[in-house]
Amino acid sequence: KTPVPSDIDIASDAVPLPVSVIASEAGINQDELDLYGKYKAKVHLSVLDRLADRPNGKYVVVTGITPTPLGEGKSTTTIGLCQALGAHLKKRVFSCVRQPSQGPTFGIKGGAAGGGYSQVIPMEEFNLHLTGDIHAITAANNLLAAAIDARILHESTQTDEQLFNRLCPVAKDGSRRFAPVMLRRLAKLGISKTDPSELSAEEVSSFVRLDIDPSLVTWNRVLDTNDRFLRGITIGQGKEEARFTRSTQFDIAVASEIMAVLALATSLADMRERLGRMVIGTSRKGVPVSADDIGAGGALTVLMKDAIMPTLMQTLEGTPVLVHAGPFANIAHGNSSIIADQIALKLAGADGYVVTEAGFGADIGAEKFFDIKCRESGLIPNVAVIVATIRALKMHGGGPKVTAGAPLDKAYTSENLELLSAGTDNLLKHISNLGKFGVQVVVALNRFSSDSNAEIELVLGRAKAVGARASVMCNHWAEGGQGAVELANAVVEACSVEPNFKYLYPLDLSIKEKIETIAKEIYGADSVEYLPEAEKKIALYTEQGFSKLPICMAKTHLSLSSDPEKKGVPKGFVLPIRDVRASIGAGFIYPLVGTMSTIPGLPTRPCFYEIDIDLKTGKVIGLS
Ligand code: ADP
Repeated sequence: KTPVPSDIDIASDAVPLPVSVIASEAGINQDELDLYGKYKAKVHLSVLDRLADRPNGKYVVVTGITPTPLGEGKSTTTIGLCQALGAHLKKRVFSCVRQPSQGPTFGIKGGAAGGGYSQVIPMEEFNLHLTGDIHAITAANNLLAAAIDARILHESTQTDEQLFNRLCPVAKDGSRRFAPVMLRRLAKLGISKTDPSELSAEEVSSFVRLDIDPSLVTWNRVLDTNDRFLRGITIGQGKEEARFTRSTQFDIAVASEIMAVLALATSLADMRERLGRMVIGTSRKGVPVSADDIGAGGALTVLMKDAIMPTLMQTLEGTPVLVHAGPFANIAHGNSSIIADQIALKLAGADGYVVTEAGFGADIGAEKFFDIKCRESGLIPNVAVIVATIRALKMHGGGPKVTAGAPLDKAYTSENLELLSAGTDNLLKHISNLGKFGVQVVVALNRFSSDSNAEIELVLGRAKAVGARASVMCNHWAEGGQGAVELANAVVEACSVEPNFKYLYPLDLSIKEKIETIAKEIYGADSVEYLPEAEKKIALYTEQGFSKLPICMAKTHLSLSSDPEKKGVPKGFVLPIRDVRASIGAGFIYPLVGTMSTIPGLPTRPCFYEIDIDLKTGKVIGLS
């Protein structure tokens, strides 16, 4: 239709197929499916056992140039490409995408189901509660937070003996009850006896006292709402807790380490280990304290046991989609789950394709996809599709500031070859960066109706000249899968090349060497500067034995540098590292480049102003 209707109008006009039909077409047995209503179902991990011997499909990651704050269409292209591969080229194909947070859905950016005629449906279910995974993460995260402060309180009010008797009580028959996590803790401390009378006073004390330093607790509470007033809070203001008042903060739920754990776990057993390993703070003696030390690892896993299964949905053209995890793309790695990709690759089989999306621009999302996600999974990607738009390239060429919610300047809506030509460098830098990982690079120029033919020719020609395997214009937002057939053919052709995949850095480099490799090779920095807090943490994590973890840079996505105002390909800059933090359960160290908010705020005019319910039909309106 022209003009293209709104995302929600297109999505709610579509009639989805029952998800059980999508599942059987995708090769999923009905007993491997838990239905959540008509159009969503959880997929059991047992699919992986059933198909263990089947070869994997081709693995395609969709990434983007440095975007404007509006988003350049990575999700839309992921879905459009799959519609083209599945519904038009008749290939077996799966899209693997992240579940969006309700923060952006009601805040500034809107949902993440794609757009136009390339969407996941039902889009309101996709963008809202889905199958409750984010609620499960919130519950698990906050159980741990509650356990930390309760433990600090209990330790301070009881003797070692009282603590031992309460942590491991004596039953009526005289036997002592050691919960499995308590046995884990004994084993970790190298204590083989369980009778307190046979233990030294030091052993008893080290077992029962975590001695958490309240000022060094790094675990925050979370909520999936853009509530800026929770960025700094004081807890413990009730009468009984008054001695334990401390300052802390909320993060948005998708910034919880539990979300990153969900995304990087490779099995239920692996998720259990990671949840138990998460470090929540440091003892007064400088020892890292884990969720298992607090006794919570098992309970957290139970809260997450359904969330570990990806949710099956469908595109507007009936191809299967696995929605799973959605870690924050700055302080975490911003990619959907390994488990969903593993399941999709097996279901796709040797002739099939799995298209997965990495958040933010290629300097962040794709680098983390290769160096963190693929390293954890051992999966080898074949092709990277890099999404570019003419509007973002013009912005890189010096075009006026682009602000969400404000009308676009004329420079973006009419032909301007000068700005465009100056801005294509950003695309070329990302193409050359992606080449460093040894994957084939395909450029997808996501067409907007205002793009002129001369502008399109200019971008496609430049991209091809610097070594992209293919560079094609696509129009799937306006036309659905049909508009991405040329892109799909280019991806199929690029997948026929044997990948020569490599990571950017080996894990055994020091923390600083790894940071510097990313800063210089990917961002184009001259050097890296460490502020005192960062120096201190690097020394601490190295001493604690965490220096062999990969690096997850927390940097703005709006520039290759640390300054969101520097567009194009910034040169001659120093990358400042303000602080360094660690997600030990997820398995990465995250340096903070500049300041980073971990819970967004609401703007004056948030997306939720548009959102309402049509009382006659019960349909959601205004969701974007
Ligand atoms: P990203 O994943 O890169 O953040 P999205 O795919 O979510 O971007 O797209 C951002 C917004 O832009 C969505 O509202 C989508 O409908 C819109 N959009 C994407 N491609 C086009 C296009 N070619 N023309 C017009 N609007 C588009």
